[in-house]
Amino acid sequence: MRLPRAIALALLAATLSLAQTKQAMDEEYARLVKEWTTAPEFMSPLVDHLPKAAGVPTVKDVLGYYAGAPKKLTKVADLGKYYRALAAASKRVKLLPAGSTDEGRECLVVAIADEETIRNLDTYKGYLARLADPRGLTADQAKQIVAQAKPIYLFTGGLHSSETGPPEMLMELAYRLAVDESPLYDSIRKNVIVMLSAAAEPDGRDRYVDWYYKYKLSEESENDRTPNPPYWGKYIYHDNNRDINYSQVTMSNWLKFYLEWHPPIMHDLHESEPLMYTFSGQSPQNPTLDPILYAEMPFFADFEMTKMIGYGMPGVWTHAFVDMWSPGYLGYMSSNHNGMLRMYETFGNGGANTMRRTVGGGRGSAGGDVQEALAAVAALGAAAPEGAAPGGRGGRGGRGGGAATAAPDTSAPAAAGRGGSMTTREWYRPLPPPRTLTWSMRNNTNYMETGVLSALELTASVSKTVLENFYLKSRNSIDSGSRDAPYGYVFPANQKDLTRVAFVVNVLRKQGIEVGEATGSFKLGAVTYPAGSLVLKRNQPYGRLAKILLEKQDFPTDAQTTYDDTGWTMGLMSQAKIDEINDKAVLDVAVKNIAGMYEPAGAVKGTGAVTAILHNGSNNLITLRYRLKDLAFDAIEKPVKVGDSDLPAGTLLVASSARVKAEVEKLGLQAVALGAAPDVRKHAVDLPRLAMFSTWGSTQDPGWVRCAFDKFEVNYDLIYKERIKQGNLRAAYDVIVVPSQGGRGGGAKGLIFDIDPRPGKTYAYTKDPAFPTLGAYGESQDITGGMGLAGVAELDKFVNAGGVLITLGAASYFAPETFITKTVDAAHTTAAFYAPGPIVEAEILLPEHPIFYGYGERVVPVRWAGGPLLRVPAEEARTRVLMRFPGNDSSILSGLMRGVAETRGRPAILDEPVGQGRVVIFATNPVYRWQNLGEFNMLANAILHFHDFPK
Ligand SMILES: [Zn+2]
Repeated sequence: MRLPRAIALALLAATLSLAQTKQAMDEEYARLVKEWTTAPEFMSPLVDHLPKAAGVPTVKDVLGYYAGAPKKLTKVADLGKYYRALAAASKRVKLLPAGSTDEGRECLVVAIADEETIRNLDTYKGYLARLADPRGLTADQAKQIVAQAKPIYLFTGGLHSSETGPPEMLMELAYRLAVDESPLYDSIRKNVIVMLSAAAEPDGRDRYVDWYYKYKLSEESENDRTPNPPYWGKYIYHDNNRDINYSQVTMSNWLKFYLEWHPPIMHDLHESEPLMYTFSGQSPQNPTLDPILYAEMPFFADFEMTKMIGYGMPGVWTHAFVDMWSPGYLGYMSSNHNGMLRMYETFGNGGANTMRRTVGGGRGSAGGDVQEALAAVAALGAAAPEGAAPGGRGGRGGRGGGAATAAPDTSAPAAAGRGGSMTTREWYRPLPPPRTLTWSMRNNTNYMETGVLSALELTASVSKTVLENFYLKSRNSIDSGSRDAPYGYVFPANQKDLTRVAFVVNVLRKQGIEVGEATGSFKLGAVTYPAGSLVLKRNQPYGRLAKILLEKQDFPTDAQTTYDDTGWTMGLMSQAKIDEINDKAVLDVAVKNIAGMYEPAGAVKGTGAVTAILHNGSNNLITLRYRLKDLAFDAIEKPVKVGDSDLPAGTLLVASSARVKAEVEKLGLQAVALGAAPDVRKHAVDLPRLAMFSTWGSTQDPGWVRCAFDKFEVNYDLIYKERIKQGNLRAAYDVIVVPSQGGRGGGAKGLIFDIDPRPGKTYAYTKDPAFPTLGAYGESQDITGGMGLAGVAELDKFVNAGGVLITLGAASYFAPETFITKTVDAAHTTAAFYAPGPIVEAEILLPEHPIFYGYGERVVPVRWAGGPLLRVPAEEARTRVLMRFPGNDSSILSGLMRGVAETRGRPAILDEPVGQGRVVIFATNPVYRWQNLGEFNMLANAILHFHDFPK
């Protein structure tokens, strides 16, 4: 029978509308998530059901389990497998690969919107790019673009690998967004382009999941103290959220993605705080960012709280945790680029086990480790970290966020003197959580997913406001550069070392900031700059970010603390000359913008048998030495003038060759060819047999040093307690570097005893076909226990037999506290002292010491590293103290140091002969993250000239 066409269409419409209102539901899902959710108030009407859609696979269809299932965590390849299946089945989903990681895993972004939007994604991308850089747009044109554009809302999850929930939740979110036909989802798909990362730290994700399946499946409570795996990513742990200069491959991938797509909102999903903390941008706030941002953030956080408290979900709160001071967190790439930053902390169990948990403040959760961590943090003068301490270790290197072993992070606000107990009712926590509860991965998933769906509901309903604000913040940034001093920055071309200038400029370029090369010489005020000087004009979309990164940080108040560093001024950190320009004329200097990266040319002047490579402080000098390790080099010990060339102390001499010339040029170094070696005292620059020691419980700070050594091509063996305890170290090594490592209250104890042994249990980190990511970067049959006193004795023998032990930052308590050095005292700052990473003055006392080759000034900026307050007897001070802290109010160059007098006159670097060898003790940390490259040469020089220190 043929129906008349009109009737057929009407029937079809009715069927469709019926499908819309009565979409089939996945009954198994509803039953299981109800079972996995430990109390009805931990569920919401947004996630207690899951629609079915013919032909579109759920997570379970592809992986065999639903997101949030007990004892199930998904590895990166399977996350990709699910998203590929989803994208293949739905025209609303598109995959956007975003590069790969150190270990070759995929960085994947998934885009979801309605079909039309996905089909025309590049058009929408173009609109956002135009709003991100509105130069040349009239207000009317901007309005027209806003009318056509849609905001991208980008989620990142799994940046911190022990915070395991977000990558699971995001799969389910993607499915819902693709298939749910209810009005909420229609509105989101129509008005918002949702993007999400499969896993923000793919290498760490896989390693943590392997470790979880190997060791953590049996955990039932916080007392089942499994240590964390020694590594997440290749180099660092949670500092992937502090990689302010985007040194890490994966973090660079995300920044590149951000600057390609310009999401007006970016939302980083973390775990630690009970039960869900939504960031609203509390003070101290960076005053350079747009006031609009600080209005948007609480607006969103309050909406989420409003919805979730409406659903009866306890423990949703805001305020009193993270703040808006440092620009170095990953998600801040959005607020740094005129977007809007969002961040959650939900309550994670460090895996997918259902566990008894205690919330907040007391010993029940914030047990000994956390207290220890706090002590360490206080001792280090550092801000309280997210995640406090994973089991058995504390301090900066060991914090792991949300691990089941440790308690949640009540510590952070407590340490920072804000927040207090997590169970009190406060204006920012109207419905507190219970003190003890049973908590599951599904609960965590319910909270996160309900929160983000609420955020998307709001975004969909105010999408035009989000876009207008994005445009306004971008426009305001450009305007402020022509209205407010400083108007720009100049990197003078006539400074001796341009490689550190290149470091700064290339970080700025990576951040999307325009820098131009002056086409002629120009004058600003009384200063004439040569052609080729680099000019950064602030009247550009990211001009505000340039100011934030380059200015001196003036912490707004003595009364507040902050979550991470207070100072990061790039010129001071890199000891590159960068002039802040308050003369508006800088905006008119004729420049040619640098298209890619800035690569200063190296050069060899003249011809002759000997090439003298000037030590102007370039960190590339050590790279040159290692690249040409088969050649014989000398270093001159005093400055000397040859012809019209000034050769500074530390200048390297090598037989001239095409190979030498090519490397000098590639590395941006300056050299002169001479007829013969100059007549001045010199020594051979032999390369040491070099080792770096890492504990198993605190690999992150060594990881930063590994990263720097790898970038500068320094060869070394990474050694652990296993090698130390084998002994006979002097036969194998000339120099052992002990990077700053915290733990156990910040003294030597952490280095010696490291992770507490667990009675009757061992934790092997070895190659294992069943867990293929384990055993990377070193192996151990049991990561607990530390080197012990036997290890100390071996290091003592090493030094006495002629070895050089170099300790950095917090590790510098080691030699004094173990009496390897017999006259050095290492004290801690008082509880009143507070100095999260300011940049302070240090005074070089023995400028002729090889450690200071390449440093032209007597007073240099260094980052306060929270190392020991050192003291040596007066009769030794004259020859042993190489550098000291003046410790005056005027010595604080950037950021906050409360209690500067405690540092007054304290040694910053000591060179202590012990037996046949020596210990070089840095109270500073010359390799702090990838930031203070101006200090790196002190370590590089110590390595290159290890057996030529004054006796
Ligand atoms: Zn985190």
